[in-house]
Amino acid sequence: MQTKKWVFGFDELDAVKNQVGEDVDAVRGLLGGKGANLAEMVRIGLPVPHGFTVSTEACNAFLKSGGTFPKGMWDQVLSALQTVEAKTDKRFGSDDSPLLVSCRSGAKFSMPGMMDTVLNIGLNSQTVAAMIRLTDDPRFVYDAYRRLIQMFGSVVMGIDDEPFEAVITAARRAAGVENDTELSAEAWQQVVLHFKAVYRRHTTHDFPEDPLKQLKMATEAVFKSWNGKRAVDYRTAAGIAHDLGTAVSIVTMVFGNMGDDCATGVAMTRNGSTGENHLEGDYLTNAQGEDVVAGIRMTRDISLLKEEMPAAYTEFERIARLLENHYREMQDMEFTIEKGKLWMLQTRDGKRTAQAAVRIAVEMADGGLIDRQTAVLRIKPEQVDFFLHPQFDPKATAGGRLLARGLNVSPGAAVGQVAFDANMAESWAKNDGKSVIMARPETKPDDVHGMLAAQGILTSRGGRTSHAALVARQFGKPAVVGASTITIDLTNRLMTVGNHTIHEGEWISIDGTTGVVYEGKLETMVPDIKDPWLIKLLSWADEFRTLGVWANADYPQDARRALEYGAQGIGLCRSEHMFFETDRLPHFQRMILTDYPVERREALAALLPFQRQDFAGLFRVMQGRPVIIRLIDPPLHEFLPDLVELVSELADLKIRLKHAADMAAIDTLLAEIRQKELLRKRAQSLREANPMLGLRGVRLGIYIPELTTMQVRAIFEAACMVVKEGIDVHPEVMIPLTSHVNELIRQRSVLEAEARAVMTENGMEIAYKFGSMIELPRAALTADRIADHAEFFSFGTNDLTQTTFGISRDDAETGFLIEYMESGILPANPFATLDRDGVGELIDMAVKRGRTTKPALECGICGEHGGDPKSIALCHELGLSYVSCSPFRVPVARLAAAHAALRDKQKKST
Ligand code: PEP
Ligand code: MG
Repeated sequence: MQTKKWVFGFDELDAVKNQVGEDVDAVRGLLGGKGANLAEMVRIGLPVPHGFTVSTEACNAFLKSGGTFPKGMWDQVLSALQTVEAKTDKRFGSDDSPLLVSCRSGAKFSMPGMMDTVLNIGLNSQTVAAMIRLTDDPRFVYDAYRRLIQMFGSVVMGIDDEPFEAVITAARRAAGVENDTELSAEAWQQVVLHFKAVYRRHTTHDFPEDPLKQLKMATEAVFKSWNGKRAVDYRTAAGIAHDLGTAVSIVTMVFGNMGDDCATGVAMTRNGSTGENHLEGDYLTNAQGEDVVAGIRMTRDISLLKEEMPAAYTEFERIARLLENHYREMQDMEFTIEKGKLWMLQTRDGKRTAQAAVRIAVEMADGGLIDRQTAVLRIKPEQVDFFLHPQFDPKATAGGRLLARGLNVSPGAAVGQVAFDANMAESWAKNDGKSVIMARPETKPDDVHGMLAAQGILTSRGGRTSHAALVARQFGKPAVVGASTITIDLTNRLMTVGNHTIHEGEWISIDGTTGVVYEGKLETMVPDIKDPWLIKLLSWADEFRTLGVWANADYPQDARRALEYGAQGIGLCRSEHMFFETDRLPHFQRMILTDYPVERREALAALLPFQRQDFAGLFRVMQGRPVIIRLIDPPLHEFLPDLVELVSELADLKIRLKHAADMAAIDTLLAEIRQKELLRKRAQSLREANPMLGLRGVRLGIYIPELTTMQVRAIFEAACMVVKEGIDVHPEVMIPLTSHVNELIRQRSVLEAEARAVMTENGMEIAYKFGSMIELPRAALTADRIADHAEFFSFGTNDLTQTTFGISRDDAETGFLIEYMESGILPANPFATLDRDGVGELIDMAVKRGRTTKPALECGICGEHGGDPKSIALCHELGLSYVSCSPFRVPVARLAAAHAALRDKQKKST
């Protein structure tokens, strides 16, 4: 039997395809993103150092076996190494022309900095001597050697960076220099000796001299790093599966640290923060790759390379364009220039902010690189949400106390208490519910858990492509990096700017949009969505979607926002919300408390003008678009004070009565006691075991017809009034919580009579609809009969979920439901994402049954699920007419609806 192929040369893409097929995704799955792209760059003739990739399958086999390479893998590595030796005319471990390699991790989905890499493998006492002979540059060789010991020590043996950094700091101090680049060959030689001592102290072994042993141990360490804490945390947060494994690419070393005609850098084809179409990146001359990303030395802007090394820059610019056109995606590249010669070490799709993602997708579609469908599909609905992220109120920033400025690498405003390490940030946020800004000199992959828990991230060092910037951008965390006037003192847990000090736990505000850091807590506000690229992208989404997007809005200002965000109608106005306002509540309570019809009518008459005015406001804003007004729904006790409080207040009043000083005081107290007793009795009688069922919804209208009749009068009087102002009006009256068609028949006949009466009084005809919410399983099951008496259905999935699961919507999310989700009994929170098999099935049945009665029946959803992308996809599938969600979710829903339609189309065409 032939042994499985675990190792593939960069020029063996055909062999890879033989194994997994042509599919790009499968190739990436086997070689990892880095390995796949290195091979692709070789295929299209770009300058990539020779090398090979050990597959993710090998990693998985290694991890599964508990740490043994799969059979045949190491032999294949050795033979691939020989091929590289032949191509480079160098030998691994030889003392005349030694080959050095790097060992780089690379999973299917890029996880920047999350897993490990070791550079300069192959150096030992002999090869160091050979390299010095060959290059005549001992400084470079010792620098490379000390890097190997440090990286190997840290990645393979788990030694902290601190003891190594301490050696370098001491060396700098002894030499009286500020930068590593100023250290001499002798200084580095000493550093190497000290590093070996550090290695021995921490591992009780000598640093391995055998290059093959170095390579083997490094490969094992990279495989193991797939299950390191930071990689696991990152995958959990990014939704990447844990069983993919990482590949390892072994690449011939090229050197950016061989002198001033050498450099190394990272760059993106477009700006990752704003999306502007120009090269953006950083580089360092005379350095190795990790110096750029770690943010330890101050990097230079890529545009300066044009002057420093014009030929290499021009070549790099050409390749960058070529790669972007080739992948039809913004690229993030790593390069090294060795003695003037450019080498490409990596290319991958670039991480970007939501704002940049939208601009790039739109400009690529406008430029013809991708089509509009692809552009729309490239943006995740949740990314649109970032456009609605809080920004600082300009008034607050104008008056704010500016602390420092840095780079604006990930937009949005964040306010929090400053924490100086990741564990503290995570613990404050998770355990104490604090808002936290995590501040560090620079961040490392180990800090990711703190970054995820924090509201925002601040660093005093590092550039646009630093670790902090990349991670913040990916997770949409506001971030300011490289705020160099800030000094962070980790020992004393404080930071200083000049002579100003901020201690850990004090409040700061950071503006990731402008890069400014403020002292204290600044006010934030929700922005308007004026971004021209987003407006364009959403307009394309509107062309693709078939599902309408409406909004839940109770007040004209909500309706205005909804309209601005693109809502096509109001799917739910919860009319009872207006009764809670202070000028209305006393009338409403009077209506509940009285036993006398006359008094009830008076109370309702007092409420009528308020409701009329509220509804007229909505109609005016919506200018003829449909407006669904849901008649009163909640149980009446919600409008009365809390029963327990009432009882204790009564007890208190009775004690005061005993000690009352005079008759006047007694009279006042008695009157107060009478009123409270009345409230107590009524509250007591309205109390139910589960207050979200029972006497609510349509049943209230049957129980107190005057109440819903008043609401319908208000709706139609408002409609007539607004029509007279010359504005078109389309009211839809919605009856909540119907369980039996007879409830609907009874209510509707009373209400429709009232509507007709108002229209007759005004001498006008209004186009209107009467419809029912479907919020109870019985309503869904009998939807064909309900449809006989309803012109529309609106699925109240909050209640439908509650009543289908028998789980109270009010307290489920703080109780056992959490455990249900954690233990996998439920795959997701059914109050957030529609339960396809249960609630989804009921909706499906109700839509089908309703439409057998009325084929053109308008069916929408107005529960919270209307703004959730996964639920929106299900609504599309079930053939709903629209989703209605909070105004802030409207842009997200527009895009999610387009995705649902496009995916559906793709599925049907395959
Ligand atoms: C629902 O039940 O889904 C709904 C929209 O109504 P409410 O949340 O007001 O009960
Ligand atoms: Mg409801």
